[in-house]
Amino acid sequence: MKFSGFRVFAEALKGHTGWRPLWRNPEPKPAYDYVIVGGGGHGLATAYYLAKSFGRSRIAVLEKGWLGSGNVGRNTTIIRSNYLLAGNEPFYEFSMKLWEGLEQELNFNAMVSQRGIINLYHTDAQRDAFRRRGNAMMLAGAGARLLGREELRAMVPFLNYDNARFPIKGGLVQPRAGTARHDGVAWGYARGADSHGVDLIQNCEVTGVRLDRGKVRGVETSRGYIAADRVGVAVAGSSGRVMAMAGMRLPIESHVLQAFVTEGLKPTIPGVITFGAGHFYISQSDKGGLVFGGDIDGYNSYAQRGNLPVVEDVAEGGMALMPMIGRARLLRMWGGVVDMSMDGSPIIDRTQIDGLYFNGGWCYGGFKATPASGYAFAHLLATGAPHETARAYRIDRFARGHVVDERGAGAQPNLH
Ligand SMILES: Cc1cc2nc3c(=O)[nH]c(=O)nc-3n(C[C@H](O)[C@H](O)[C@H](O)COP(=O)(O)OP(=O)(O)OC[C@H]3O[C@@H](n4cnc5c(N)ncnc54)[C@H](O)[C@@H]3O)c2cc1C
Repeated sequence: MKFSGFRVFAEALKGHTGWRPLWRNPEPKPAYDYVIVGGGGHGLATAYYLAKSFGRSRIAVLEKGWLGSGNVGRNTTIIRSNYLLAGNEPFYEFSMKLWEGLEQELNFNAMVSQRGIINLYHTDAQRDAFRRRGNAMMLAGAGARLLGREELRAMVPFLNYDNARFPIKGGLVQPRAGTARHDGVAWGYARGADSHGVDLIQNCEVTGVRLDRGKVRGVETSRGYIAADRVGVAVAGSSGRVMAMAGMRLPIESHVLQAFVTEGLKPTIPGVITFGAGHFYISQSDKGGLVFGGDIDGYNSYAQRGNLPVVEDVAEGGMALMPMIGRARLLRMWGGVVDMSMDGSPIIDRTQIDGLYFNGGWCYGGFKATPASGYAFAHLLATGAPHETARAYRIDRFARGHVVDERGAGAQPNLH
């Protein structure tokens, strides 16, 4: 079923009786060539590119809940490629390029909106660091502009420029960054994967990984054993739990990250704004709600709900940055379980177990990586070799000392 303006018009004449479900609901088969564990953005994108770009078949995605029930449907929808390090920037820029063509690629409205991101700086040292990052972005073709205080004030006059403790001195802008409708991305990839023959199996929890002499044979699930030649795990906050089924311990901690949305307001915030002196970021949804978030809750957890200290911290960040936010009424808040790696960067790699591949460690920022992560993981699963933009994301980098620590924060998840 192809979506188009003409189709919407034709359906309106027929009382919208011709729309069909976006994907099938198949029973699991006894065996597949490729099993992807996790029906989030990354798992669905991986299955899509495996089938579409690498011509593979006999693929299943196994999801313990419903498609998009995890972080892909819980994040604050920010997409960007404003990185400094050589290990990161080409990968996220590859993702940005895929975002720019995604809706045409999937024939699905994912509401990709390139309204720009502004990272605020509050000290001269921070400005110099942002200038360096901006230069790295320009070298990678990502585009960047460094704004001074007055230029910024003309653009976003409602910020508190005169806050004595955190004076705003300017901002680094990536005009091509923005937001995308998060669950629409999951649905678009799911529909695309299904149309290329991928079996999307919901309510199917992987409960064990069957191994035989160092090789993966398949997975035990709540719907029975499923054999597979290659198993790709992309379960975000559940990474530690699922990889433990194969006897692996990961350099990853699971933490809750909360998000907040206010009642709908008239258009106020042009793009995404991040506070450089605390952990607070904000954008405005197409419905008008201010969407914002901050730090992870400071303890390890697998619960998809957060606690009050971070609520207070986020509210303080918002008030310090733009006091007018105190007048907005909070509509909803929620939490997701994020897979915090020890250097703040992801892992896309094979494991020491033949046929078992891992994709995780996305921390706060895996939504923007969804297209590139899916493509790179599909590349790895199909060819056995890492994609050229994902070579730095090896699992053994912690042992080798080749960490990709964008923030220079060390092995402290709360600082990444
Ligand atoms: C509040 C919040 C805000 C965020 N904001 C942003 C942002 O603005 N920009 C950004 O880039 N990133 C953001 N992120 C991070 C981003 O959402 C994640 O990094 C990314 O979604 C993770 O990949 P995923 O979509 O595949 O994960 P998920 O959607 O979590 O997918 C993993 C899936 O695996 C399934 N699963 C788990 N265990 C099993 C099992 N045993 N068997 C079968 N299935 C299983 C889960 O049910 C889940 O559906 C945010 C995250 C949160 C929580």
